[in-house]
Amino acid sequence: MTLFTPTSKWQLEEHQLFSESVKKFYSDEVKPKLEQWGEQQRVDRKLWNKAGDAGILGGSVPEEYGGSGGDLGFDAIALYELGRTAGDSGSWGYAIQSIVIHYINAYGTDEQKQKWLPKLSTGEYVSALAMTEPSTGSDVQSIKTVAERDGNQYKINGSKIFITNGGSADLIVLAAKTNKHEKSKGVSLIVVETKNLEGFKRGKPLKKLGQKGNDTCELFFEDSKVPLTNLLGPEEGKGFYQLMKQLPWERLAIGIGALGNIDFALEETIKYVKDRKAFNQRIMDFQNTRFKLAEMKTKAEVLRSFINDCVDRVKMGTLDASTASMAKYWGSQTQNEIMDGCLQLHGGYGFIMEYPIARMYADARVQSIYGGTNEIMKELIARSLDD
Ligand SMILES: Cc1cc2nc3c(=O)[nH]c(=O)nc-3n(C[C@H](O)[C@H](O)[C@H](O)COP(=O)(O)OP(=O)(O)OC[C@H]3O[C@@H](n4cnc5c(N)ncnc54)[C@H](O)[C@@H]3O)c2cc1C
Repeated sequence: MTLFTPTSKWQLEEHQLFSESVKKFYSDEVKPKLEQWGEQQRVDRKLWNKAGDAGILGGSVPEEYGGSGGDLGFDAIALYELGRTAGDSGSWGYAIQSIVIHYINAYGTDEQKQKWLPKLSTGEYVSALAMTEPSTGSDVQSIKTVAERDGNQYKINGSKIFITNGGSADLIVLAAKTNKHEKSKGVSLIVVETKNLEGFKRGKPLKKLGQKGNDTCELFFEDSKVPLTNLLGPEEGKGFYQLMKQLPWERLAIGIGALGNIDFALEETIKYVKDRKAFNQRIMDFQNTRFKLAEMKTKAEVLRSFINDCVDRVKMGTLDASTASMAKYWGSQTQNEIMDGCLQLHGGYGFIMEYPIARMYADARVQSIYGGTNEIMKELIARSLDD
């Protein structure tokens, strides 16, 4: 299976070639390591450099900033194949790096892009996006982390939780209040480089139900100072708007990853039911199995068409917030339904971690929670119906 449909408008020959090299990279460098990374609760740091060398991180970064100068289709392929080839739904936090790159590319000054994009493209820097706080997740406008002006610096105080790549991030795009008396208009995005940053601490990787290979953790800032020039965008108070403009890509990215994982799980399951026997026949030969697989495959193909349509819209610059919310909600829900269906067809072995479907079932659960919960997605979709 591939991400593309025969009628995908966005697909170019370069995408096809890139897809082949990405598959090889994930087969060699990600798939065999997932178990080990889960045990150590982080991926090997050198994976980032290798992915940079393979052109995966900077696929859509302009050439003048150290990338390959491609379009978002390259990121879409890298996200899809991570699930499809490696069966990884979030141990390696590539998706976040891709999102951070787009923030800096969209809102950074030329100087900021020169400074950070090459490091993010080569994997010299690992990045995180820190919005969620212990007391607020869905309600981003109510964050309490503050960035106060102090001479030519921001003094940051507050904490963040559940931050993907938090344990290893060299660069964090931080949502903070530059005006604590305002709600959405008080939010700004500030780039924080963590090396030698005073007053900055990371919590231990959180023990999670799934996606265990990611060093998701808490971050603490106590009078941490960063230059005023690290503000993203032309002026303070634009952070909420910037988040709303970029979140559609983050949401589509979750839908794309969901499809990759679905394709991997279906292939594994089909192999399993052809091999396993009960009552002197293959599990595949029971009508229930055939119908369940037919239902799941249909759902996968419907999702593939929708995802391709969304990638086309991204390329044309017309992907709106409510359609991206549908891709995230529908993709993650379908992924969870299919992981459950595939696990059931494995019988007891599906519950044993030696079989990829057990890990994939656990990994999938959070897809309907992060990036905005599916309830928030439905709110956004409903709002577009009530304009
Ligand atoms: C593994 C993992 C990785 C993550 N990575 C990151 C990251 O890199 N960066 C980051 O900033 N955050 C990250 N998050 C945080 C994630 O985005 C939040 O957990 C999510 O947005 C939900 O926020 P919350 O946990 O505070 O839940 P809450 O907002 O407290 O929600 C609790 C429940 O109430 C529901 N609810 C809330 N508001 C409404 C409403 N208006 N209408 C209907 N229902 C509502 C929610 O849907 C949910 O079911 C991650 C989380 C996890 C678990």
